[in-house]
Amino acid sequence: MAKGLEQHQAHQAKLMALGKDLTRRAGSKCELCESAGVSLRPYEVPPEEEEPRVESCVFICDTCREQLDKPKRMNVDHWRCACQSVWSEVPVVQVLAARVLDHLGKKEIWAREALADVYFDEEVESWISLKAL
Ligand SMILES: [Zn+2]
Repeated sequence: MAKGLEQHQAHQAKLMALGKDLTRRAGSKCELCESAGVSLRPYEVPPEEEEPRVESCVFICDTCREQLDKPKRMNVDHWRCACQSVWSEVPVVQVLAARVLDHLGKKEIWAREALADVYFDEEVESWISLKAL
């Protein structure tokens, strides 16, 4: 049990250590909703890897994070931002935004339409389908 906890803490420490690189990539804005001047933290896009990497993390605000943790309670209007972020040049941002749109698309036509408009690389496409939100 203690070992699991230690591993978890080591993993979290590595994740937080990515903050500097992620700040640079994100330009100090939430990579999903573009909020600026808010606190941003690394978020690992599932499935988690043994070693967190910049390429598999996004840098996001607490509002986005809280809602990603509880997809059933998503504020639909907040996630209009995903229509933009799904076009990001950063693959992992595309992946997460696409999963959000896919999730909301069960009820929201605009989300389905936004997703249908995007062209994804094959690699990104199969990454998206690894896991639902
Ligand atoms: Zn955000």
